[in-house]
Amino acid sequence: MYKDKESKMHMKKKIVASILAMLLISFSFTNILAASNDEKSKVQNQINNKKEELQDVKDEKSGVLSEIDKLNTSIASTEKEISDLNDKITELTSSISDKTKEIEQKEEEFEEKDKLLQDRLVALYEAGDTTYLDMLLTSGSITDFISSYYLVEQLTKCDKEVLNSIENTKKEIEDDKKELETKKQEIDNTKSQIAEKNEKLKSDKSAKQAKVDGLTEEEKKLEGELAAYNAKMNEIEAIERAEEARRKKAEEDAKKNQTTTGNTGNKGNSSDTGNVGNTGISGGTSGTVTSSGKMTWPIPGYRNITSNFGYRMHPIYHTWKLHSGIDVGAPTGAKFVAADNGTVLIASYGYNGGYGNYVVISHGNGITTRYAHGTSILVSAGQKVTKGTPVLTVGSTGASTGPHAHFEVRVNGTAVNPLNYL
Ligand SMILES: [Zn+2]
Repeated sequence: MYKDKESKMHMKKKIVASILAMLLISFSFTNILAASNDEKSKVQNQINNKKEELQDVKDEKSGVLSEIDKLNTSIASTEKEISDLNDKITELTSSISDKTKEIEQKEEEFEEKDKLLQDRLVALYEAGDTTYLDMLLTSGSITDFISSYYLVEQLTKCDKEVLNSIENTKKEIEDDKKELETKKQEIDNTKSQIAEKNEKLKSDKSAKQAKVDGLTEEEKKLEGELAAYNAKMNEIEAIERAEEARRKKAEEDAKKNQTTTGNTGNKGNSSDTGNVGNTGISGGTSGTVTSSGKMTWPIPGYRNITSNFGYRMHPIYHTWKLHSGIDVGAPTGAKFVAADNGTVLIASYGYNGGYGNYVVISHGNGITTRYAHGTSILVSAGQKVTKGTPVLTVGSTGASTGPHAHFEVRVNGTAVNPLNYL
C-alpha cells in the first residue's frame, strides 16, 4: 500500500520532527509550571504566615477588650460607691448644720435667761432697801452678794438651774456635732481613697484602649499585606491559566497544520496518526499574542524616574521595603501604554493591596507587566493588546502620595528591574 522508499523516509522525518516539537511545547510549559508552582508554594506560605500573625493580633485584641470590659465593670461599681458616699456626706453635712443651728438656739436661750437674771438683780437693787445696798457694797463680789443674800438666792436659784440645764444641753449638742464631724471626716477619707482607685482604673482603661488602637492598626496593616499576597496568588493562577490556554492553542494550531500539510494519505488507525502527525508547529504559535522582543517605554512623553526598582524606605508604610517597580513622574490623566504585545490578565478598580486601580498584562513565558495607581482603566481582562495600546490613565489611587506612574515587570510572579527590559 505504501508508495516508495523515499516517501517512507520523508514520512519518518516528519514524524520525528513533530514529536520533537511536541516535546518542546510541553517541556517549556512544564518549566514554567514548575517555576510557577515554586512561587505558588512560597506565596501560600506567606499567606499562611500572615493569617497566623493576623489571628495572633486578633486574639490579643479580644483579650485586651475583655480586660477593658472588666475595668468598665469595676469603674461602674467604684463610681456607684462614690455616689453613695456623696449621699452620706450630704446627709451628714445637713445634720451638722442642724446641730449648729440648735447650738445657736441654746446660746440665745442662755443669753435670754441670763439677761432675765441680771434684770431681777437690778430690780432688787432698785427697790431701794439700803440694807441690800449695804450688803452689796460690803460683799467682795456679786457672787458673794448673791450667795449671801437669802432672798435673792431664793429668787435666782431657779434661774441658775435653768441656765445650767441650757448650758448642759448645749454641750451635749456640741458633742453630737463633733461626732458627726468625725464621721464625715472618715467618709471624706474613704471617698478620696475610692476616687483615687477609680482614677487608676480609668488610666488603666485608657492604656488598654491605646493598646487596642495599636492592635487595630496592626490588624489593618496585616490585612493589607494578606490581601496583597492573595492578589499575587490570583495573579500567578491567572498566569497559569493563560499559559495553559496558550499551550492548548499551540497544540490545536499544530493539529490544524498537520491536517492541511502533513496528511499524506496514511490510512492506518486514525487516533494514532492524529497523535504523531502534529507537524509544522516549530515556526511559532499563530493566533496567540507573542512578545515582540524589547519593550516600549510605558508612559510616552514622561521619562523622569522618581523612584527606582530596589529596596527603599516606603513613603507611606515607613518600613524598609522592596520597591517592586519604577515610578515615573507623570500628571493625572497621562496615558500608560502596553509595554509589549500581550493579553490583559487583570484590570481591577479598588485598593488592590496598595496598587489602586491597576492593569496586569501577560506577555507569555511567565513575563507580566503591571501598571498601577491609575484613574481610568482603558482595557478589560482577557483583551489582547499590542505594544503601545493605551491601558490606563495615570492617577494616585491605592498607597500613593501623589499622581505618578508605577510600572513593574515580573517573571513568574517575581518582580525584576524593569529597566533591564526597556
Ligand atoms: Zn512605585
